[in-house]
Amino acid sequence: MSSLTLQVPLLSAEAAGRTFVRGKGNIVAVQAATFQLLQGETIAIVGRSGSGKSTLLHIIAGLDVPSFGAVDWPALGAREQLRPGKVGMMFQSPSLVPSLDVAENVMLPLALLDVPGNTLDQAIRELARFGIADLAHKLPEELSGGQAQRVSLARALVARPRLVVADEPTGQLDHASGTALIEALLTWTAEANATLVIATHDLEIASRMKRSWQMDHGALALDNEIATK
Ligand code: ADP
Ligand code: MG
Repeated sequence: MSSLTLQVPLLSAEAAGRTFVRGKGNIVAVQAATFQLLQGETIAIVGRSGSGKSTLLHIIAGLDVPSFGAVDWPALGAREQLRPGKVGMMFQSPSLVPSLDVAENVMLPLALLDVPGNTLDQAIRELARFGIADLAHKLPEELSGGQAQRVSLARALVARPRLVVADEPTGQLDHASGTALIEALLTWTAEANATLVIATHDLEIASRMKRSWQMDHGALALDNEIATK
């Protein structure tokens, strides 16, 4: 018997989608999507700008709610209980707290969880994973876009979430740095037996994930559907 059939999914989406009001009408950012996320999976969501990737990732992370359909996290609990220990999110746009230094930003999830012990050491270990421990005492305004994204990723991982959602994590990095970041992220995911969902334009980055899902004008096509076309 396959162990997968016994697994409780981390996330289950049933015809879930998202509309936004624009002017007098609605735009459908994400069309009805049905899928599951299982423990240990790595998934790339690939699509052009405006195709709905960020909107879908926010729903997956429980930061936004679908306008129709349903999303549940059977292995993680209710949406209100998701953060920050169960789901870690790296946003596409800058999201560091400007008045806190880099290490303090990374320590935030641990503070919210009341984690005992030396959380500064933990934050610095997480920064070191992405080669940026030397930035620990800089302010966000002193960072390049690529450095800020790596700090956000360290902050997303520090509480060892079971589901990691990263929105274009290599978007502001050169090819070599982007590849190094993805390798570090995949190593982390394998060690933690976590699930990783990233959005990317970069097909080479996408090919490093076990599954690659396409988004086109809000419509999500799962890899098995592509394979049977
Ligand atoms: P992607 O991440 O693939 O670039 P997004 O999810 O950011 O795509 O956007 C998908 C569509 O939804 C776009 O047309 C965008 O303008 C629209 N959209 C996203 N967020 C909002 C919002 N908060 N309010 C109104 N429209 C939005
Ligand atoms: Mg986006």
